[in-house]
Amino acid sequence: MRKRASFAYSSPMLADDDANRIEFELVRADKPTLVRWVKELLDDRRARSGILQAQARRLAHLRQRLKQAADYLDGLALKAQEEVAAPWKGKLPCPHCGAPVSGVRAEQRPQGHAVVHDHLDGRTCEPEGKGR
Ligand SMILES: [Zn+2]
Repeated sequence: MRKRASFAYSSPMLADDDANRIEFELVRADKPTLVRWVKELLDDRRARSGILQAQARRLAHLRQRLKQAADYLDGLALKAQEEVAAPWKGKLPCPHCGAPVSGVRAEQRPQGHAVVHDHLDGRTCEPEGKGR
């Protein structure tokens, strides 16, 4: 039985046509042939498991690096946000848009009240994207 030479390294993985031939000739094969096929199928299984385990390790490493990159970029954005807010020292950032808040008030609405954050540029923000 030949091995597919599609990988740069020698792979014990069976090609699909080899696996199909094993399945097709299974009932007519003698014991030594069956023993060889079982060994080849077990080698194939080990090779595929090795690939999956290597992929799992690469994915875990990738996720770790993505978290590090996200933390770094968030740190840069936070620093920029602090620099932008410097002229309004002591003003808290708006929980909706991040800009410094000049005032917070409650507005009465037909369905209850809404907490509205006012900004120096005249913009107002309130929960659920109802900013004006
Ligand atoms: Zn806002």
